[in-house]
Amino acid sequence: MRMISTRDTGRTGRSYTDVLLEGLAPDGGLYVPDEYPQFSHDELVALQSAPYTRIAFEVKRKLISGAIPDDVLKTMASEAYSEKNFDLVNGQVVPVTLNGDGLYVQNLSLGPTAAFKDMAMQFLGREMAYELSQRKESLVILGATSGDTGSAAEAAFKGLSNVTLAMLSPLEGMSDFQRAQMGSFSGGNIINISIRGRFDDCQDLVKAVKQDPEFAKLGAVNSINWARIAAQVPYYFSGYFQVAKNIGDLVDFTVPSGNFGNVLSGYIAKQMGLPIRRLVVATNENSVLHKLFTNGVYENTPAQITSSPSMDISKASNYERLVFDVLDKDADETREYMRIFNSTGKVSLEDFGVSVRAFEKLGFDSGSSTHANRLETIRSTYKDSSIVIDPHTADGVFIGRAKKTDVPMICLATALPVKFENTIREALGFVPERPQRFRGLEDVITTDAFTILDAQAVAVKELLRKCTMSL
Ligand SMILES: *Cc1c(COP(=O)(O)O)cnc(C)c1O
Repeated sequence: MRMISTRDTGRTGRSYTDVLLEGLAPDGGLYVPDEYPQFSHDELVALQSAPYTRIAFEVKRKLISGAIPDDVLKTMASEAYSEKNFDLVNGQVVPVTLNGDGLYVQNLSLGPTAAFKDMAMQFLGREMAYELSQRKESLVILGATSGDTGSAAEAAFKGLSNVTLAMLSPLEGMSDFQRAQMGSFSGGNIINISIRGRFDDCQDLVKAVKQDPEFAKLGAVNSINWARIAAQVPYYFSGYFQVAKNIGDLVDFTVPSGNFGNVLSGYIAKQMGLPIRRLVVATNENSVLHKLFTNGVYENTPAQITSSPSMDISKASNYERLVFDVLDKDADETREYMRIFNSTGKVSLEDFGVSVRAFEKLGFDSGSSTHANRLETIRSTYKDSSIVIDPHTADGVFIGRAKKTDVPMICLATALPVKFENTIREALGFVPERPQRFRGLEDVITTDAFTILDAQAVAVKELLRKCTMSL
């Protein structure tokens, strides 16, 4: 198995570790495997009651095709998902519970920064540190965050001697907790930059800076990096194993979505042979993806700030990986499709001779929620099941309820409520007690934790030059 770019007609193959350090392909495309590795029925049976660290190892192993030695990979999985890093529940890293409304909820947020981003970042940090030391190289990474990616990456990369991590975040929109959490990592090899703009501006800046030959070697921690997607595939296996009575039974997943990274990992799991029937893409008021899966038109719509800020996007980078499959892995067509989208802000699948039904055939469905829907779902879940869910999870649960049929529905819980206390207070009139490790977080933040810049590539480049020169 080799990694290819969605826009490279020549199909120049790269290895998993090349792609890990490179992030975006030089032609602007995203890396995908040239074929999806497979799990047989017997292999699934053998893995069914394995601990998460073993599931993560076995699934990753197939996805990296020998690029990292087995014993090293095994150690990484054990360390990434250790009890030291994760607040295990009944020994589970990604526990599934059955709620009073008949939905299953899979908690992906027990890691160091209380969002599902930790699942991938804890692996990514270890893989990058290992590969860079093998190559005797160092790497400067520029990333963009709407809140959760930043702190998860910083927790994973803090103190690594061969990586400098600069994160761009929007000046407005993140919760106080998210801002404080990121700020707490500033210093040493971690640089936090606040951009006068939205998340989309941050994401565009990353692409603009990387296009400058001087910065072509910048690494990526956003989910444009295939390693992020690959590290998220195993928890779909674990969720499946916890719910399916027999291997072969079908389950559905509902996934609160923004940049389309999480649900894409579910799609990869399905392609690898995990018996997933449907993948429901759940969006908030920024419903670019819901519209896309409903009418086949992908349209860039300015993002508004909502009570589920980690999903506030106007375009979904990872969708390019899906459309590549939908267009029969034709790189010319994918490049043209993305060119039309990037130049006009809108592209229709039908113009490429593909019906919107193509998404359905691959298992996709979608829905969207409003602020009022999420508040009501937080309240009813608390009433039904005595658990407090965060607004992103509430988005998934709201849509999951509407989409549930006779097949078990697993909703992914993508953050802990502690990250969004204002919305929880609005819904319930109180906030649950914080886990010990997050108490007093906002008290320790220093005023110079963030450098504030205009949304201009020149400003970011200048700061990067200054910071990396002094290393
Ligand atoms: C990042 C994030 C999402 C969206 O995930 P994508 O992979 O970007 O689709 C949803 N919920 C939370 C809490 C997040 O941090």
